Formats: sequence, structure tokens, C-alpha cells
Amino acid sequence: YVKERGPSTFRFYHSKMLDTSNNGAVMESHLRRAIEKNELSIHYQPQVDLDTGKINSFEALLRWNNPKFGLVPPSVFIPIAEDSGLILEIGDWVLNQVCIQLKEWQIKGFIDVRIAVNISSKQFKQEAFANAIRKYIYKYELNPQSLELEITESSMTNIHETLTILEELKKMGVIISIDDFGTGYSSLSYLKRYPIDIIKIDQSFIKEIEQDEKDEAIAKTIIHLAHSLGMKVIAEGVEKKDHVEILKEVNCEKAQGYYFSRPVPIESITEMYFC
Ligand code: C2E
Ligand code: MG
Ligand code: MG
Ligand code: MG
Repeated sequence: YVKERGPSTFRFYHSKMLDTSNNGAVMESHLRRAIEKNELSIHYQPQVDLDTGKINSFEALLRWNNPKFGLVPPSVFIPIAEDSGLILEIGDWVLNQVCIQLKEWQIKGFIDVRIAVNISSKQFKQEAFANAIRKYIYKYELNPQSLELEITESSMTNIHETLTILEELKKMGVIISIDDFGTGYSSLSYLKRYPIDIIKIDQSFIKEIEQDEKDEAIAKTIIHLAHSLGMKVIAEGVEKKDHVEILKEVNCEKAQGYYFSRPVPIESITEMYFC
């Protein structure tokens, strides 16, 4: 059967591959107009305090709904945005939207709430990045602690540059977290140099933590390391009660994942937490 289908299967995959690379360029041109056409939105995923069960922070996750392509996952469009440079405009749009949301909550009296925003490395390395953050905090009169910036190790290629930006951001009072911790290739020495508040354990270590002793050992070690350095920890990709139990046992501060909630539109967040 396989033999018979072999050549046509090959052609099928081949044309599919061509299709995908074509789509990349077409997608880019659609993405270029996504903001003005109102196709972007932000979903929010709650982060649960494992001690109290309370929620006072959310991660902002970008969504793109295009008439031609439908709902495109970030894993597809974020790389296109990064390669084309569109991520600068899009990232700025996300920051503005998040700050508007924080302002709205602040006006309603919800002042202890925080939103974490993913910052792509191109955005982070922009010369004007720290100033853009300053501008938004000033413009919306935000408590800087209500804004968290998630950066990845891939943003930290130049130690001196990174330190300068992070220290500037810290001086403003915003919260800095390291996203997808444990999946990068950089040395751990940056942890002692940079003013980092939170480490987010990558979901790949959590997914099977209840049955894989090695994952549990790694998660435990990350938590211990973070605490020794005065940082807090958020576990990503928490999907089961077992995950929650283990994370509580090892003193992880917060958890985020489908077990508690998927990322949802702002209306659902408002309904659930701000009514
Ligand atoms: P991330 O920052 O690590 O975000 C966590 C991802 O895990 C999100 O995927 C979220 O929906 C998903 N997730 C949350 N809980 C669970 C769970 O329990 N199980 C599983 N399997 N997945 C879970 P999403 O929304 O598809 O975003 C993917 C990535 O795209 C993000 O990873 C982030 O790196 C990037 N991204 C999303 N929004 C933005 C943005 O506004 N700017 C930038 N630069 N990147 C973004
Ligand atoms: Mg993130
Ligand atoms: Mg990320
Ligand atoms: Mg992550």
C-alpha cells in the first residue's frame, strides 16, 4: 500500500510544502494590514496563586483572525511578524492595548492586578524600547508594577546591552520575567547579573511531571534556584490536578494552564473577575 502510494504521496507533500512557503508571503501581506482591519485581538490567561487560589495576574496572548486564513496560531504568525519586522508595530499595538486595559481596571479600582506581555527579541533590542514602556506608563498613569514584561533568553545575546535595558526598566518599576525558562542555550550566569523578578518554567517540564521523575527534578531545581536568587516562579502548561499538587509541594508560587483556564477574550475575564 505504501509502495503504491509512494510517488503520489511525495508529490502531495511536495506541493504542500510549496504551498506553505507561498502562504508565508501572502500571510505577511495580510498581516501587514491586520491592525487597521481590526483582525488582531488579545486573549488573557489567568495565573493562579497556588497558596491562596487567587488570581491577580494574566498573560496577554495575541490572536489573529483573518478572513482568508481563519484563526492563525501565534506559532505561525509571530515568526512571520518577526522576520518581516512587523513585530515592532504589532508588539507596540499589544502594549498599548494592554495598558489601556490596565488603565480601565485601575479606574474601576482594581489596582492589584497585573498583565504580562510577551516581548519579542527584536522589540526588546530596539533602541527606543525602554522609552516606549516609559511613555505608556506615563500616558496611562499606570502603577508600573501592574505591567510585566516576558522576555526570553534569545533576547539576551549581548550581556552589556541587556543589562542596560533591564536596569532601565527596573528603575521604572515594571516586572521582568523570563519566559520558557530551561529551553534556551544561554549560560545561567545571567541570572546573577540581571534584575529578574520571575522565572516561568517552560511547559515542556510540566506536561509529564507527574510521571517523569526527571522533569520533577528539573522543576524542583529551577524553583530552588529561583528562590535562592530572590525570584518567584510561575509554572506554564499546567493541565492536571496532579500538576497542581506537585507544584504546591515544591513551593511554586503561581501556575498557569488549561487546568485553570485557557486564554480567553477580555469579556470573559471581566465577567469572571471584575464584576
Ligand atoms: P508563551 O509566551 O510561552 O505562551 C504560552 C503558550 O502556551 C500560549 O500559546 C498558551 O495558549 C499556551 N498554553 C497555556 N496553557 C497551556 C496548557 O495548559 N497546555 C498547553 N499545551 N498550552 C498552554 P499561544 O497563545 O499559542 O502562544 C504561543 C507563543 O506565541 C507564546 O508562547 C509567545 O511566545 C508567542 N506570543 C503570543 N502572543 C504574543 C505577543 O503578543 N507578542 C509576542 N512577541 N509573542 C507572542
Ligand atoms: Mg509568555
Ligand atoms: Mg514566549
Ligand atoms: Mg512560555
